[in-house]
Amino acid sequence: MSDSSKKETSGMGRRDMLKGGGIAAMAAAAGVPAGEAAASARTMPDEPKNPYGTPPGYGISLPEYYRPTPSVSNRNFFPPGEVLAKNEMRICFPGSTPWPPTLAQSGTCIMVELGNGTTIPKRMFFDLGNGSVKNILGLQVPVPQINDIFISHLHVDHYHDLSYLFPFRASFGGWTPMRVTGPSGARPDLGTRHMIEKLKESMVWHLENFDHCPIGDGYVFEVNEFDWRDENGICYDQDGVTVRHWPRSHVKDGASAYRLDWEEAGLSMVWTGDGRPDEKTIKYAKGCDVFITEGQLDNMALQAIKFGIPVEIPTYIVDTYHTPYYAAGYCMKEINPRVGMICHYEQNAELDIEAAAQIRAHWPGLFLWGGPDVAVVNVTKDAIWQRYAVRPEHASVSPPDPRELAAGGAQLPDEIEIPRPKLPREEQQEQFLRDMEIDPNTFYPADANRPLMRTWPEEGVKIKTQDLIDSRGGVRSEADK
Ligand SMILES: [Zn+2]
Ligand SMILES: [Zn+2]
Repeated sequence: MSDSSKKETSGMGRRDMLKGGGIAAMAAAAGVPAGEAAASARTMPDEPKNPYGTPPGYGISLPEYYRPTPSVSNRNFFPPGEVLAKNEMRICFPGSTPWPPTLAQSGTCIMVELGNGTTIPKRMFFDLGNGSVKNILGLQVPVPQINDIFISHLHVDHYHDLSYLFPFRASFGGWTPMRVTGPSGARPDLGTRHMIEKLKESMVWHLENFDHCPIGDGYVFEVNEFDWRDENGICYDQDGVTVRHWPRSHVKDGASAYRLDWEEAGLSMVWTGDGRPDEKTIKYAKGCDVFITEGQLDNMALQAIKFGIPVEIPTYIVDTYHTPYYAAGYCMKEINPRVGMICHYEQNAELDIEAAAQIRAHWPGLFLWGGPDVAVVNVTKDAIWQRYAVRPEHASVSPPDPRELAAGGAQLPDEIEIPRPKLPREEQQEQFLRDMEIDPNTFYPADANRPLMRTWPEEGVKIKTQDLIDSRGGVRSEADK
C-alpha cells in the first residue's frame, strides 16, 4: 500500500467520491483507516464491497455516472446519424493495436470530437496508425475534415496511414494544408518534420501523378514540431482547446504524451502514447477526465507457451518499451481519472480477463477498453458511456462539406472553384502511352458513347455550395442552418 492512496478525505466533493476516492470516504465515515478499506476492496474481502457504493444491480466497478450522455440516441453508434451535443466529447478509436493488425484492430488512432451542437464537431486525431483511415471513413467523417493530427512518436504503428491519407484526401476535396503536430528528436533527422519531408520525397511518383487532378494545397504540410524535451509545453491553443505534451521513456528520445483540455466544457483527455510508466505522466495527467494509456500483459511465461517464443523476447520488449497492465492500473490509481482506458493493446478474449485483473490490482475505478475498432466513448461532466460503432462493410465516402472547403469558416460563397490541376498528363507521360490506348469507339456501345474529357476546361469547374450541403442529406441539424 503506498502512502499516496491514503488520501485526505475531508472536503471531498461528490465527483471526487465518484472518481475513486469513494473507498477512502466510505472508510472515513465508518471509522476505518483508508488504507485498510482500499486494500480490502482489492483483495478477497470477508464481506465483498462495491467500491463505488452504487445501488444494487449496478455492478462492482461501474459508478453511477456510467450512463448514456444526452447525445446518445442508440445502443450502438451509427455514424453519422448522431449530432454531438454542445460541450460533449466523443472519443472514437479507429485503431487500437501496435501489432498484429487484425480484422478487429488497426494501428493506433484516437479521434477526439468536441461537440458544438452542429454536424461538424471540432475534430482532432491522436496518432494515425496503419489501417485507421479505413475506419475513419467508415465513421463517415468527410475526407477534408481528417486533419489536425498529433503524433505521439515516430513508430509506424502511430503514423503509417499519413502517407496513404494525404494524397487521397487532397484529391477528394481536402484542398487545404495538412496540420501535423509531433515531437522533435535528438537529431534533426529524428523529428516529425524530417519524417514528413522524407515521406513526401518517397512519394514523388504518386504526388506528381495525382497533380493531374485538382489537389489545391492538399500536399502542403503545416508541421508543428515541438521540442521533445519540453515539459508540459503547449503545442496547440485554439478555440478554447489547449494541448500539452511531455516526454516519455520509449527506448529513444522523442516519444511524447498529450493532454487535451477543453475549457468551455471543462473536460480533459490524456493519451500517453507508448512508454514505460513514469512520474511525469502521473504529474501532468492528474485529475483528467479520460486517461488513455497503452497496455501489455505481464504473463511472460504463458506468452512464451502461447506464441512459441523464448520468454526473453516479450520480457525484454515490455521491460524496456512498454507499460504492463499492473503499471497502467497503478498510474490510473495515482492519476484518478473519471475513466481509465487502454488503447494500443492486443485484444484477445481470454487474455483480456487477465489484463483487466492486472489493472484491477491497483485501480478500482471505472475502466474501459479503447478497442477493438471502433470503440466509442461519450463524455460529459455528468456521464460517461461506451458503445461500438456500426460500420458499413461497403461504406461510401461521406461527401465533402463546403463549410470545410471554404477554410476559415467565413461567409460561404455561392460557388467554389475547384482547384486547377497542376500537372496535366501531357507533361508527365510520353506520347506513345496515350497513342496505344484503344479507341473508345471500339468499346462504347453507340448509344453510350460520350465525349472524352482529357483536358481540364479552360474556364475552370465550379460547384454550387448549396448543392453540396444538400447532398449531405440526412445529416443536417437545425443548428447547421
Ligand atoms: Zn506503438
Ligand atoms: Zn512505440
